[in-house]
Amino acid sequence: MTPLTDSTASFLNSPERRSAFLENVVGTCPEGIIANDNEGEIFLFNASAQRIFGYAPEEAIGKISASQLYPPGGARDVKEYLYSEEYGGRGRLVDFETEIVRKDGTRAPIRLCCAALQENNHDIGMIGFFTDISGRRALQERFLESEERFRGIFESARDAIVSVGEHGRVVMANRAAQELLGYGEENLSGMEAIRLFPPRFVAYWKEISVYTSGLGPGTERGNIEILILSKSGAEIPVQLTLAEKIVRGQRIQTAILRDISDRKALEEELRLQSITDPLTRLYNRRHFLALAAKEMERSSRNRIPFSVLMIDVDRFKQYNDALGHIEGDKVLVALGMEILKNFRTMDTGFRYGGEEFIVLLPETSSEGAMVPAERLRTRFSKVAFRPHPDEEPRKVTLSIGIAEYRPGNSIDDLVRSADRAMYSAKNAGRNRTVSYEHLVAKSGG
Ligand code: GH3
Ligand code: MG
Ligand code: MG
Repeated sequence: MTPLTDSTASFLNSPERRSAFLENVVGTCPEGIIANDNEGEIFLFNASAQRIFGYAPEEAIGKISASQLYPPGGARDVKEYLYSEEYGGRGRLVDFETEIVRKDGTRAPIRLCCAALQENNHDIGMIGFFTDISGRRALQERFLESEERFRGIFESARDAIVSVGEHGRVVMANRAAQELLGYGEENLSGMEAIRLFPPRFVAYWKEISVYTSGLGPGTERGNIEILILSKSGAEIPVQLTLAEKIVRGQRIQTAILRDISDRKALEEELRLQSITDPLTRLYNRRHFLALAAKEMERSSRNRIPFSVLMIDVDRFKQYNDALGHIEGDKVLVALGMEILKNFRTMDTGFRYGGEEFIVLLPETSSEGAMVPAERLRTRFSKVAFRPHPDEEPRKVTLSIGIAEYRPGNSIDDLVRSADRAMYSAKNAGRNRTVSYEHLVAKSGG
């Protein structure tokens, strides 16, 4: 408001002018202004009061009592508060929210400021300034409603939702998040978000958040599979999507976490199936090639040799022809079990093909491999198969070739060498173990 200048002040010195000026203020004031005497008789009722209450000034002034403007008891309350100390001091009532009754009988929420009118230290009545707050109320209600709706979605979402503020602490977490992370009723809010990840991921958090929120240069907003840490310390595989938003000047990151443990378990099951031989439960040829490649690399690095055994069942065609394929299968299953029992845990057995098996022995020379190879051969030759309970049990023997990995060789070379040693064992009469290294030494090159 511009300060009153001397000329304005002197302009208001004239009583007529002042009265005209005040009338103008009252008439244009956006707040409803109503004044009444001690008996409740209204003597001032402006245009805004008409808008709020529905009475024309001439219908209100001298016609109705101020108490009719409130629901039963309302006027008495206003008067009581006006003369109490609590709401702006005695004789004043500030920002008091209550209800009024319009001419048509409907009610409306208002905010009221009131003052006692005095003349010669005597209360002669009161003046009230009314602000219609039904618009704001409606807005508030709409806000509450939308907040409630949002809460409903937030809380009933099956995915875990966790919002984190700039300070790195959780500001909001839904029920699914509480459950997934194992916090139950204990509130996640206020917790350091970093504690929700295994420590080894913490160093990458920045990269992860840039990628998943799509803020990186030229990157699509991506989702990643990551492990999160539950309260008990268990790691849970989740798919993570991140959204960043500035809320009231604060950067809020909201993570949506989908539990993918089931899918991961299924993936693992399928992966195991893809590398396992269904008959013997040993690993298959595919997995041998993968593990042998790793072993080859490790051996080249450490300069520690490793060896493979190529194991072939002797005269297995005869056995099958005489007793049938099902009995033949039992021999293969038994051989698989013997292989599992016979070697160190660091060794791995594979069914390489029909009746051929391979054992991979890390950190073992061909000489060292001879010991478990011979042990397996001897043990297996003593296993009694009883295709016909009333007939003599059958024995089955193995021919085994050993080859040690030489730097510069391929896996193919290694398998071929073991195969050659195994065929040499067959040629020498079967049921024996031959190492490729011996074979080469004997043949002089
Ligand atoms: P050798 O002593 O020279 O190894 O003679 P062999 O009869 O074992 O050799 P050959 O390679 O001639 O025969 C292998 C046999 O193994 C032929 C096939 O019927 C049998 N075989 C291969 N895979 C399976 C299988 O999964 N189950 C059964 N029961 N037999 C199989
Ligand atoms: Mg064979
Ligand atoms: Mg054979």
